[in-house]
Amino acid sequence: MLRLPPFTYVSARTTGEAAEALAKHGTAAMLVAGGTDLYPNMKRRQFEPRVLVGLRGIRDLHGVRGSAAAGLTIGSQTTLTAVATHREVSRAYPALATAAGLVSSPQLRNMGTIGGNVCVDTRCNYYNQSHQWRKAVGFCMKKDGDICLVAPSSRRCWAVSSSDTAPVLWSLGATVRLCGPAGERTIPIASLYRDDGIEYLSRRPDEVLTEIELPPIDGIRCEYLKLRRRGSFDFPVLGVAVALRMEGDVVRDGRIVLGAVASQPREAPAAAAMLSGQRLTAELIERVADAAAKPSKPLDNTDYTHPYRKKMTRVFVARALRRIAGLPDSPRNHEEVA
Ligand SMILES: Cc1cc2nc3c(=O)[nH]c(=O)nc-3n(C[C@H](O)[C@H](O)[C@H](O)COP(=O)(O)OP(=O)(O)OC[C@H]3O[C@@H](n4cnc5c(N)ncnc54)[C@H](O)[C@@H]3O)c2cc1C
Ligand code: SF4
Repeated sequence: MLRLPPFTYVSARTTGEAAEALAKHGTAAMLVAGGTDLYPNMKRRQFEPRVLVGLRGIRDLHGVRGSAAAGLTIGSQTTLTAVATHREVSRAYPALATAAGLVSSPQLRNMGTIGGNVCVDTRCNYYNQSHQWRKAVGFCMKKDGDICLVAPSSRRCWAVSSSDTAPVLWSLGATVRLCGPAGERTIPIASLYRDDGIEYLSRRPDEVLTEIELPPIDGIRCEYLKLRRRGSFDFPVLGVAVALRMEGDVVRDGRIVLGAVASQPREAPAAAAMLSGQRLTAELIERVADAAAKPSKPLDNTDYTHPYRKKMTRVFVARALRRIAGLPDSPRNHEEVA
């Protein structure tokens, strides 16, 4: 059995207390929300904090406020179950409810929070292993080693962004609020992510992600589709989030964002631009899906082969767009899945 190493737990009552504790303990400290990713990672010695700053006791960070018409604010400590089952989220931003409801298993969704999901560590077959396993292969640069075992000549880590909600929030144009000792700032969620498997967030080490703000719904229709081996449990090895602002049956603008194909969610802006001012016909959807698969560059470091994950990007984008258009799945998509 893997055991947790010893650590000191600081139960923060306010965001300010949490930020102060992070500033005081520096690199020795980490935040813990639901702990569903952090504690397993500590057991495998991927994380070795001596101090954990707990966020669960900060009341202001729990719950969903506002309306879809004016925009919703989701506290970072809101559980994934609460997000997935929230009436206004499910009605107006169904892709977010779907993504939150597809994370892991019910037990982990009851503990896991949306803030933890947005900040969850990147993943790789050579990293998400026990300490003994990693030691046997000589470790890698993400923790304890010097080289990348996926791409040995690479100077960077290619671990994969594996959050279900991140691509959806990006596609919806969400912003996040960060609070630290130097004050508060609000940034587009797209700016929170960095294309680096180790330094994958632009969040400063002493900042707490407090809230996620969704823009007013204003005609947005959205979808999220997830590829994984075990439908009840696994992380995404491909996530496709599509959010389109519609005027009747014409697309005003939109975003297509791919998850689990890079170290950060990857937007496909050229493909989305092809939709602007157009009706969602079957022929246009095929062309857009082909274009959206181009930025998808999965590596051979998660489940399924990377050529298959690349191929499925096209299929999933086409499916998501067809669902928004109210069209049934196409025979081509069925053939390519086989
Ligand atoms: C078996 C298993 C299956 C899983 N499957 C999935 C899956 O399918 N999809 C998926 O997306 N995830 C999956 N996860 C990962 C995890 O359960 C979820 O991502 C969950 O939402 C993490 O939330 P948490 O509150 O438990 O975060 P924690 O584990 O507490 O923290 C995760 C990270 O976020 C940081 N953090 C937490 N809150 C904040 C904050 N407010 N501000 C700044 N940093 C913060 C922590 O320091 C830590 O680095 C799985 C985990 C396991 C063990
Ligand atoms: S991509 Fe390379 S450096 Fe990053 S976790 Fe995997 S093996 Fe390690």
